[in-house]
Amino acid sequence: MIPEPRPPLRRVTVERDTRLDDYAAVAHLAGAVSDLRLETRAVVSRLADRTIWMVSSTSRGGGVAEMLPPAVALLRDVGLRVEWLVIGSEDPAFFALTKRIHNLIHGSGDPTLGDADRTLYERVNRENAAALGELLRTGDILIVHDPQPLAIVTQLSHPPPIITVWRSHIGLDVENAATRAAWDFLGPYLDAYDEAVFSAPEYIPGRLAGRATVIFPGIDPLAPKNRELSLRHAVEVLCSGGVIPCPGPTVGERYLAQAQRVAADGTWAPAGATDIGLLTRPIVTQISRWDRLKGFLPLLEGFVLLKRLVHEGEYEGAPLDRRRLELVRLVLAGPDPLAIQDDPEAREVLDELRGAYRALAPGVRDDVAILLLPMHSVEENALMVNAIQRASTVVAQNSLREGFGLTIAEAMWKRIPVLSNSRAVGPRQQLRDRLDGRLIADPEDRRELCGALREMLEDPVQLERWGQAAQRQVHEQFLVLSQLRTWGRLLLTLAERKGG
Ligand code: UDP
Repeated sequence: MIPEPRPPLRRVTVERDTRLDDYAAVAHLAGAVSDLRLETRAVVSRLADRTIWMVSSTSRGGGVAEMLPPAVALLRDVGLRVEWLVIGSEDPAFFALTKRIHNLIHGSGDPTLGDADRTLYERVNRENAAALGELLRTGDILIVHDPQPLAIVTQLSHPPPIITVWRSHIGLDVENAATRAAWDFLGPYLDAYDEAVFSAPEYIPGRLAGRATVIFPGIDPLAPKNRELSLRHAVEVLCSGGVIPCPGPTVGERYLAQAQRVAADGTWAPAGATDIGLLTRPIVTQISRWDRLKGFLPLLEGFVLLKRLVHEGEYEGAPLDRRRLELVRLVLAGPDPLAIQDDPEAREVLDELRGAYRALAPGVRDDVAILLLPMHSVEENALMVNAIQRASTVVAQNSLREGFGLTIAEAMWKRIPVLSNSRAVGPRQQLRDRLDGRLIADPEDRRELCGALREMLEDPVQLERWGQAAQRQVHEQFLVLSQLRTWGRLLLTLAERKGG
């Protein structure tokens, strides 16, 4: 029995309906599950009687909170003892400081971090370390996620011999004054770890060279966002969420909150009141947070160029291709305004897009939908994202910068070819140009965007091939099942290196 941690540390209960056997029951996942079971057998026997402690700063919202539950549940299913702890503090200044550090690692913000910052950072980590120290036993493995709890290892007093790993979910591929300030500040705590894990080689700071491993993020193929949807179920989701006018009665009830779209005058309207054409037309979709770096506006303008090409009679392609380009629509989707109330940048970006949308010529405006997806229920939102991605011919992720870009793996998993930016680390890690999508050189170049969209839409046979390659690529590299195998190998190496 694991004793309950003492505050401010908190234990997170992971309750999931999907077990490893459910993954094994899916024909094309069965191989990945047996590989995982096979490879982790040695890890399980080596690490029997030890506990793997995951420590993070939150259990809700954000990528870490999204990725840890399936990881914890699946590692338990293979036979490992895993516990997830969340650090706490009553002092809001701590989280303001760690948010600043987070932004500095991303290359922005005031690079001055002083003694007072260090004192605060260490104090909160020490309070949490005191509670953690009571739980740790010889040989245990401590995996600490992101910068907030990073200092917890140096703040443990008289810890037993354990294995320590720091997992960074963030990073930037260039160095500037901000990133240097962050890594200098964090340096002494980093040095205390046996190993660090990053999502891309470009993110490993110089001081950790030779002491860091790369493990890509992975998506959960059975999560509501990614699981297979039958045609009927996908249509039902779109109806229940109010994304489309329902073509007939459905068994499922309407969701708690309904999708909205921007109307011609810039106000909100129920999305399903007019037909976007998700079930019948070629569709290009981008689903993201309303963030300027996601490149929504240039994508919209590139799409408008494409429409001009066919509307203004300059198009010289085959009649069927002309028809495709005449019918294609662009869906730009993101969280509804309620969910972004306290995010001024998101409001600004959405307002800019609404302005650009209102200014479009009516004929082109009808071919663009700005969708607002309610966030009241995480599961309903995820199902809507799933169904919209599946209804898409092409998924765009026109980010100027992108740490990883889960939306890319999500679409590729659904065999939807993706259009993205070759200069951003995450997209070029996932996508291979003209093998499973298109990587363009400049996400702000409207002409290049227009050309890439045209190339993709005009060749459905090639798109199909790219979609298949895309799914295989995710299968091999970006599923939580393969990530856990890499984790298993890493833990085994560390256990052997430390001789425990
Ligand atoms: N997403 C969502 N609903 C939305 C918009 C985005 O669920 O309305 C999800 C999207 O499916 C993806 C995540 O938010 O899983 C965004 O992750 P990504 O790595 O693409 O970008 P980030 O937001 O971390 O910059």
